[in-house]
Amino acid sequence: MDVIINYEVENISDVYEEYVTMGEYKTHKSEYYICKYCGETDIEKFKSKAHLIPEFTGNKDWFCFNECDSCNNKFSVYEYNLKNFGAFKNAHLPIYGKKKYPKYVDGYHNFTIQFQQNGTLLMSAPENTDFFKIENNRIQIKSVTMPFVPLNVYKCLFKIAISMMEINDFKKFESGIPWLTDKKLKIEPKIPHTMLYNPNGKPVSKPIAVLLKRKAEYNCPEFSLIFIWGFLIFQIFLPFNSSDEDLDYSNLKLPILGDFVTKSKDGKYGLSHYNMNSFDKIQTLEKINFGLKQKK
Ligand SMILES: [Zn+2]
Repeated sequence: MDVIINYEVENISDVYEEYVTMGEYKTHKSEYYICKYCGETDIEKFKSKAHLIPEFTGNKDWFCFNECDSCNNKFSVYEYNLKNFGAFKNAHLPIYGKKKYPKYVDGYHNFTIQFQQNGTLLMSAPENTDFFKIENNRIQIKSVTMPFVPLNVYKCLFKIAISMMEINDFKKFESGIPWLTDKKLKIEPKIPHTMLYNPNGKPVSKPIAVLLKRKAEYNCPEFSLIFIWGFLIFQIFLPFNSSDEDLDYSNLKLPILGDFVTKSKDGKYGLSHYNMNSFDKIQTLEKINFGLKQKK
């Protein structure tokens, strides 16, 4: 049976409600030091503080206490891929990382970009300068991103979603846990590993993660995650949910944010979505442009 997907732009708030947001999340006391992913219960194996949302996205405040060091370590591979995917654009924003504002290094043109404590952006280029141009008081910079694996970016988003989930709902995703905890595992799920993506959102310095749950009868997956990091807006529909087995996959309807609808120069509408079910190492050419102000 073919899976057929219809994206729908107008009805997301009729179909879904906020189930949990990052700001509301707290690990239940009964879940402390019991690993949600592998069942580890040895308190000695919970030494590192697991961030609910990756620290480099600006999360300093939200942690989970039900993720063991070994799983935390596995998931860091996925986080690293998300970081490589979005680091260039977001290096232009004051998003505080582990110790400081992260320095972005372009491996192709050898320039670096780093936000400074005094609120300025420092760009340094040792050799060529063909990666930027200045026109009419605007600067355009281009960079080839660090390599990333699409499936690892997707697993990172999936992990963010299920880490915020109540244990009762989390249990419905049991069949996806081996896939999540094994970075070599690729499968073809019923709900495709598709990522909706907009790189030009209104920027935020703290990440926003909202897990949506279906509130009405509708032929769509029960859960969807919206994640905003810096300029980047993501949405995915969670695969592996045992409650989604009865959906009519020949006519899936996926309510999405309007942010992912694109319009080309010749007025044609499109959709910014990507199939993430791939182990290929990818680098993309990214561009950013912004206005310049003369120093007085
Ligand atoms: Zn674990």
